[in-house]
Amino acid sequence: MLATLDIGGTKVAAALTQGGRVLERRQLPMVSQREDLTPLLASLLQGWTGIQKIGVATTGYVQQGRVFSVNHDIIGFWNGLPLQEILRGIMDVPVVMLNDAQAAAWGEYLARQQDGNGPADLMFVTLSTGIGGGVVLNHRLRTGQSGLAGHIGHIPSHFRSCDGESQCGCGQTGCLELIASGTGLARQASALFGEACDSRRLFSLASQLPGAEHLIQHAAEAVAAMLAGQHLALDLQEIVIGGSVGLAPGMLERIQHAFRRIPVPAPPRISAARCGADAGLAGIMHWAGASS
Ligand code: ADP
Ligand code: ZN
Repeated sequence: MLATLDIGGTKVAAALTQGGRVLERRQLPMVSQREDLTPLLASLLQGWTGIQKIGVATTGYVQQGRVFSVNHDIIGFWNGLPLQEILRGIMDVPVVMLNDAQAAAWGEYLARQQDGNGPADLMFVTLSTGIGGGVVLNHRLRTGQSGLAGHIGHIPSHFRSCDGESQCGCGQTGCLELIASGTGLARQASALFGEACDSRRLFSLASQLPGAEHLIQHAAEAVAAMLAGQHLALDLQEIVIGGSVGLAPGMLERIQHAFRRIPVPAPPRISAARCGADAGLAGIMHWAGASS
């Protein structure tokens, strides 16, 4: 039995798996305080017996069992936190860790290999609390020597955020994450409407309010421009979009439409995550299952 976790800035999902099949799935909101993390993880794993290994997909980059966030505004205590040791304190079994978008890239890559002619070169992009990415090149997941590979949310965009905010929690200015993440959209929407508005509500307002539609459209164009740059660097066959914002109604179509207007050669297919919100869980299940 393998237990898998997918730790995001907003939610933590867990699955009990056996031989590549999910027996049970659980989900709880992510906590904002360090001291609440161990109880949260313990309650997600509670009652699961016969676990031989834990696979963890997590936001941030992973180095030797520790997690670090690039954007310190998202999880403040992801500053070298020994997550592997914390989990081993809950359940004394081997713990295999990977960045969440890297795991999702692997899950989506494998889902396409089942067709027989899946792509060799694929990028997964999650538009969620933040923006992350994972790259499979020549059938291999690229994690990088520092675990950082794919963090495209912190590449500055030539688009400007609609509320004028330019300072990112990573220390840089003008990052894509300020414009097109769930947090970024909520911040811009709240500034536009003069009251708190999260990204789910923004999407529900898009058909009635041109201002809401404009924010989403602008975000989709900024994402498409970033993806065109990634395609030029890597020559991708497919770009897979996931995360709750990426999977929100009409977002994929807006990104596809914006991408079609960018004159890049040999444009890749842009598709939705086949595993939906569980791309990270699926990926870490296979990754951890295959690791010794
Ligand atoms: P995580 O970042 O924890 O992996 P998600 O992929 O669910 O989690 O992304 C969370 C972000 O997506 C939050 O900013 C949330 O407000 C936003 N969100 C959640 N559901 C929707 C929705 N249906 N439409 C648009 N945005 C959503
Ligand atoms: Zn940044």
